[in-house]
Parts: sequence; C-alpha cells; structure tokens
Amino acid sequence: MYKFADFHCDSLLNIYLHEMDLTKLNESGHLDLPRLRQANFVFQCFAVFCDPKFGQEAALRQTLRLIDTAHREIFNQPEVTLIRQAQDLDQAEELAALLSIEGADFLGDDLFLLDLVHSLGVRLITLTWNGRNSIADGVKVGGSGGLTRLGVEAVKRMQDLNIIVDVAHLSEHGFWDVCKVADRPFVASHSNAWQVCNHPRNLKDEQIKEISSRGGLIGMNLCRPFVAEEKEQQNLDMVVNHIRYIADLVGSDVLCLGCDLDGIKAMPEGMRDVRDVAGITDLLAEAGFSPAEIRGICSDNLLGFVKNYLG
Ligand SMILES: [Zn+2]
Repeated sequence: MYKFADFHCDSLLNIYLHEMDLTKLNESGHLDLPRLRQANFVFQCFAVFCDPKFGQEAALRQTLRLIDTAHREIFNQPEVTLIRQAQDLDQAEELAALLSIEGADFLGDDLFLLDLVHSLGVRLITLTWNGRNSIADGVKVGGSGGLTRLGVEAVKRMQDLNIIVDVAHLSEHGFWDVCKVADRPFVASHSNAWQVCNHPRNLKDEQIKEISSRGGLIGMNLCRPFVAEEKEQQNLDMVVNHIRYIADLVGSDVLCLGCDLDGIKAMPEGMRDVRDVAGITDLLAEAGFSPAEIRGICSDNLLGFVKNYLG
C-alpha cells in the first residue's frame, strides 16, 4: 500500500473557527488525525492561514494564535512529530507534521518576525495569499508587481533560516523576482498546470521548468476550479492529467501532493475527504507511471525534499 505526504491543508482553521477536535474522527471537514491514519498519510503540512481582511496588526495576532493552536491541539499528540530538522523525519513514527504560514501578512515591516516564527517551528512560508502584503503581490492584484525591497530581504532570510520559500498564490512578476533572489530550491506547494486548466493560480510551462531545474517541488491541488474549467471534469482523473502533463514536460521528480484540504470549498467529484486521495494511485498506474514514480509523487519526492532542505 502506498504512503502519502501532502504539502498543504487549511485544517487548523477548523479548530479555530468551528471548534473541531482534530484528534477525533469528525463527520465534517476533510481531515483529522484518525482519518489521516486511515488514509495512510505519513506527512502533512499544516498551514496557518490568516485572512488579509484582518489587517496587518491583527494578522500577527491571528498567525500567533493559530500557531499556538497547532502546538496545543496537534503537535502535542503522541502520534505526531513536528519536523524542525531533517533528523526529526527519521524519528517520526506515525505522522510527521510540518508547520507553514500561508501569506506573510504577519510580517508587516519587521523581518525579525521570521526568526520568531522559525523558533516557533515554522518551516515553510507561502509569500502571499491572493492579495498584496509588504513583501509581494498575490495573483489577484491587478497589474501586479513583484517582490518589494523588503520581500527580497525576506526571501534571503527565509533561506538562511531553513524556511522553505513557497510561491503558490504569488503573482507571475513576483515569481520571476524570486528566481532572481533565490539560490536554494523553492516550491509551489499547491498549484497545478496552466496549460491543462487556464486559471491564474496555476503555473505556466516556463515556471514549471524553472522550479524543476532548481530542484523544487510542485504540489497538486484538488481545488475544483484549478483542476478543470468544465464542472464535469473536476475529478481525480483530471488531476492525473495535470500530473501527466508536468511529468512529460520536466519529469515526475518535481511532483508531489498539495491537496489544499479544508481550504477548498468542495472535494473533486466522487471524493468525500482525505480517505479518497488513495484512489489516485490506480489512476497514475493507468496513466503509465511506474510504482517507483507513484511512490515519488505520493510521498517520496516531498519527504526527500524536506529532508534535504532542512538538512
Ligand atoms: Zn492557498
């Protein structure tokens, strides 16, 4: 049976907004610890998402609150190992957890906050959500700019701290600015292929080639509008088409899962929750992927990347 590793979920918000207990099996939501176990997930990245509508000052409070929630409600569980350094991955017995922040709105103008969140266990930061913050523009900013001067410094500091730089949600201009600054591999933790589905959150071929040539990763997103434009095609088969397309373009080593569970409104057609992700392995085999490639896409590429990066 295949194991699974995933680069993005928004499930922390369910604890905070809906008082869900993720240590128990829930009827609602897309995942909790029992369901991750049933689904054979060995690695899950938990994102702290801070809605930009809170504004900068509240963004910092909200971010810290969710980090605190994650530590008290998930990372203190006996079956969960929070990954701070490479060797933690070897020691993780059941579920390895990575802590990320989606959108650097909490930073304001204070880069020392990168050091602070690093000390709190954060090992990946998605530079923006869809809007603008002090370091860069997201994909939904009209006539969007790239990285600000502070953003350039932020990317350098993240690399120095062993925080993975994530360009999902970032404007195209911002993407190419990151390429100028970055001297370590970076990732798009939950983005698909633009050629397969024309959505601004998906990656153009040149971006995919760039991430691949730098040894980065692209996590496949289950968000219906990023999977297919036509409603009838918003299913797991179509996710495999994204994977096939990217693998044909640059090889499958760049691919991993970034399902965006509990961040997406609805699961793809025919899927209930995280327990149905495993269905992808049969579809990948049908699409011509070898067992080694399927292992890579479903878990090993991601685990290897994190291990090397945190080295
Ligand atoms: Zn997102």
